[in-house]
Amino acid sequence: MNYKSHIYGGVAVWLHAGAALSIGVNDMLVTAPVAIVGALTPDLDHPKSRIGSLVPFLSRPISALIGHRGFSHSGLCVLAMALAFSHLVLMDYPDWTLFVQAWLIGYLSHMLCDAFTARGVPLLWPNRARWRVPLIWIRTGREPEMWYVLIMLMLGLQAFVATVGGAQPYYVLLWQMAQDSPGWPWVESYLLNPLRALTVIGG
Ligand SMILES: [Zn+2]
Repeated sequence: MNYKSHIYGGVAVWLHAGAALSIGVNDMLVTAPVAIVGALTPDLDHPKSRIGSLVPFLSRPISALIGHRGFSHSGLCVLAMALAFSHLVLMDYPDWTLFVQAWLIGYLSHMLCDAFTARGVPLLWPNRARWRVPLIWIRTGREPEMWYVLIMLMLGLQAFVATVGGAQPYYVLLWQMAQDSPGWPWVESYLLNPLRALTVIGG
């Protein structure tokens, strides 16, 4: 995916997180740039990516060492960052929790967006298997990529604005719709099951 898609995707996922964690409007505005930088950072492993071309002295050695879509796109990398932040930053500066969350969620949004592309992401790196979301595979730079992130952005906006305004975010409405309509097998398989999986992870 190109950098614009990752910016929109990062904001979209951060808006969902803002809705889920009940983060206020001001805090969201202050932390959004952190989420955006987090969403661009995994492509530091590619000297021709937008962020990589800004800091070639970093992206060239990283690319030579680990290659594109390797360690920087893995669960191990996110785990290492989460541990490093919780030990080095949050022990001394607990007020920075929201910024750390914004960074990590922005970073994860990058991997989620890349998982929608045909190349997938090596989630369990150093295992070479690449993981993809088995719905729509997008070729980088093609038009559907933009549609996909714009839809994510609209959904994120709806979820966040609805939560701030005391209304139901779309995923709660879908959940209720799915529960009220057990006769719709597609709702069960495409919406309810992923939501159940998310609930297990979140709980
Ligand atoms: Zn990437």
